[in-house]
Amino acid sequence: MLYIGSHVSFTKNSQLLGSLEEALSYGANTFMFYTGAPQNTNRSNIDYNLTQEAIKLMKSNNIDISKVIVHAPYIINLCNPEKFDFSVKFLTEEVKRVSDLGVKYLVLHPGSHVGLGVEKGISNIILGLKKVFESTSCNVTILLETMAGKGTEIGRNLEEIKTIIDSVNNERLGVCLDTCHLHDAGYDLTKFDEFLNEFDNIIGIDKIKCIHINDSKNVIGSHKDRHENIGFGKIGFDTLLNVIYNDKLVDIPKILETPYVDDKPPYKYEIEMIKNKRFTKYNN
Ligand code: FE
Ligand code: FE
Ligand code: ZN
Repeated sequence: MLYIGSHVSFTKNSQLLGSLEEALSYGANTFMFYTGAPQNTNRSNIDYNLTQEAIKLMKSNNIDISKVIVHAPYIINLCNPEKFDFSVKFLTEEVKRVSDLGVKYLVLHPGSHVGLGVEKGISNIILGLKKVFESTSCNVTILLETMAGKGTEIGRNLEEIKTIIDSVNNERLGVCLDTCHLHDAGYDLTKFDEFLNEFDNIIGIDKIKCIHINDSKNVIGSHKDRHENIGFGKIGFDTLLNVIYNDKLVDIPKILETPYVDDKPPYKYEIEMIKNKRFTKYNN
């Protein structure tokens, strides 16, 4: 079954219920949100009643909460020694919030080594993740996102992700692919079956639990990380469709993180195009 949705907002007053309602308005059957602003770590407590209401509304709309995704704020950086303790503490609290919401998956950018070097950066990530898993016992799985390799980002190739996964060695650790990031990192998505074989050999395909579907504003290998609307970028509609409908990834939730067009979310149109398997130039 196709699970397709987008990034949606999450506000203090409507929480999971508001996120769900926004997703439903796009014709989505899954969604992803930050539990507050992505660029800061101010978070409010999860409201039990709103969560229960959301779960009820999910049931009546056949939304499977195990396909819903939370994204950790991107200022979390386990690599950076100056931010390490704060990042571990925040991530631990975030895992608990995700668990309170009944959500199973938390996407995390591995981090940026900020000049320390890849090796040191990776060993800090491993240490941080181990601490987070040790101090939480819920069944929330952290998904390391594949990155574009902008600046000093870790996770720009499968080998770096593999090193982290092997060393942490916890079944609560998986992977989130991002098509824009893979393309910008230098992976050729027109040969996606070859990529999946490579992924399977290095990490294991069963580790993929979420895929971010984005076109890219830049050419392959650019390391820029600028998302583009589906079909308007350098990856292209057919190549993205081929990822979305790949028969090895049928039950994996696919999440759009494409930019707003004229200050409006494009997700209703993009989801429709994906369901129809047909690219139509749209304007809101
Ligand atoms: Fe991300
Ligand atoms: Fe992403
Ligand atoms: Zn990105």
